[in-house]
Amino acid sequence: MSTRITDECINCGACEPECPNGAISEGSDTYVIDPKLCTECVGFHGDEACQSVCPVECCIPDHDNREDEVSLLEKAIRLHPGQKFPAVDELDETTSRFRNGKWMNRGR
Ligand code: SF4
Repeated sequence: MSTRITDECINCGACEPECPNGAISEGSDTYVIDPKLCTECVGFHGDEACQSVCPVECCIPDHDNREDEVSLLEKAIRLHPGQKFPAVDELDETTSRFRNGKWMNRGR
């Protein structure tokens, strides 16, 4: 499941530089997330970096783009060849929201 930005976005731009995958860009009305690039920050952070900085908390799980933790980690590895990532069984609360009690059930 990638993350999406709702129409509550106030176009502050805070999220764009926080995305480790460069998935966020300015759209015609609001900032937008490219689901092909979004890994829900798996492999990088224990939360979704965009939602963590969003002042109106409008970066929410996209139920039309459901992906599991393994798929998201594989996507991160594909997007960043040469970069070292934890193995699936090495992911923890700092590198996967699925392991972070505060975030693991968000949107589920
Ligand atoms: Fe929009 Fe939130 Fe990103 Fe600001 S941080 S541009 S309000 S989605």
